[in-house]
Amino acid sequence: MTAIHDLIARQRDYFNSNATKDIRLRIAHLRQLRDLIARHEPELNRAIREDFGKSEFETFTTELSLIYHEIDLLITRLPRWSKAKRVGAGLLNFPAKSYIMPEPLGVTLVIGAWNYPIQLSLLPALTALAAGNTVMLKPSELPAHTANVLARLVNDHFAPEYFHVVQGDAQTTQELLEHHFDKIFFTGSIPVGRMVYQAAARHLTPVTLELGGKSPVFVMADCNIAVTARRIVWAKFLNAGQTCVAPDYLLVEKSIEERFIEALKAEAARYPQHPDTPADHYLQIINHRNFDRLVALIDPTKVCFGGVHDRQARFISPTLLRDVTFDDAVMHDEIFGPILPVLTFTSLDDAIARVKAQPKPLSCYIYSENKTTIRKILHEVSFGGGAVNESLMHLASSNLPFGGVGASGMGSYHGKAGFDTFTHYKSILQKPTFWEPNLKYAPYSLQKLRLIRMLLR
Ligand code: NAD
Repeated sequence: MTAIHDLIARQRDYFNSNATKDIRLRIAHLRQLRDLIARHEPELNRAIREDFGKSEFETFTTELSLIYHEIDLLITRLPRWSKAKRVGAGLLNFPAKSYIMPEPLGVTLVIGAWNYPIQLSLLPALTALAAGNTVMLKPSELPAHTANVLARLVNDHFAPEYFHVVQGDAQTTQELLEHHFDKIFFTGSIPVGRMVYQAAARHLTPVTLELGGKSPVFVMADCNIAVTARRIVWAKFLNAGQTCVAPDYLLVEKSIEERFIEALKAEAARYPQHPDTPADHYLQIINHRNFDRLVALIDPTKVCFGGVHDRQARFISPTLLRDVTFDDAVMHDEIFGPILPVLTFTSLDDAIARVKAQPKPLSCYIYSENKTTIRKILHEVSFGGGAVNESLMHLASSNLPFGGVGASGMGSYHGKAGFDTFTHYKSILQKPTFWEPNLKYAPYSLQKLRLIRMLLR
């Protein structure tokens, strides 16, 4: 028996003891986790800075604040969300009551990605705990310092049969996936997502897949050019472009191409252009493998801004490419780095058709002041979620379920959507025994059938 096998068996026993079903205990654990993170903020800040140069400002705004907000929301809403809800029982079952009982799924596995290593691991994990499950968490091994701190925080303060961090690489994940879980929540790339889905199918385990893809941005001639450029550049170069919902490429209406590229350049100039310029608002590339992959996507003949890179510092300056077509290498896969290709269009229908010919993206952004244009794009293009005249910020709202569609994933979380993701809704019909009409029992008769037809109408 392996250590992983033992851990899962312990979690299953613990879940079967019904201990996780106590709402007050769940709330107490959420408070404990919030307190733990708050007390260890300096350690987390240090670790993530060592991993890829992220500042305290961005660690708070893009990681910790989301976690605090989600925990606070769960603590206040949990009592209501976890109550059974009465629904109509229907005439056919009269007299009876019907209700829907939320129940936790059981032993869950959460697999995290590296680019926001704290929140992409802890947010789904704490939502699973809030919904009454036990959790095995496998954070990404790439930000090794952050993974170590996460493992220490969780494993030193929570019982392994309730919440446990398992560290390791792809092989560890594959070993985990051999086992039966009651739910798998995966954040990461499409190829690994496919493997997770296949492994889960062997046990008929439901999965949520939070994947990536090439998120397009429609920039219409009627947009507010200065604000649009500012919001896109911020969203693209945050985390050095290593964001699943970052604008991947721009589709700019041809008539404003020159003016818009100038506006983009002016905004991109706010970022460091050389590795020796320290900046709190710009990160390193996570590792050399990704650095090499990204540099290979920079076609020097198409660079109109930036393009500076330094392998040792794992630094790539904010880079704008122009005159890009769908045939360029940079348009084949999700970029996931600080390279922003600008494509142009004259016909919106053609631009929409090009986007629809690609796998469905995780996000899409529309910059326009024209309601008809906005409605047309929203109506015609399928994508996980997005924003109008903004980028990225939709994921910060706990009222908006966050997730992909098609190749960008399945299922969603954040707020109530997260609770639902880790919950089974059990439907119950409850009848008294004081009255036993003969209607459904043999012998059947035409008269009974007439009555049933009437009741079912
Ligand atoms: P990844 O798929 O390489 O890794 C994700 C997790 O899977 C890690 O924990 C890793 O250890 C594990 N893993 C990697 N290779 C594996 C293998 N062969 N077998 C089993 N497990 C394996 O993804 P990543 O590089 O960490 O993240 C980048 C990708 O994730 C991008 O495509 C990005 O768009 C996507 N992403 C999506 C979201 C979202 O919320 N939808 C958020 C962040 C990142």
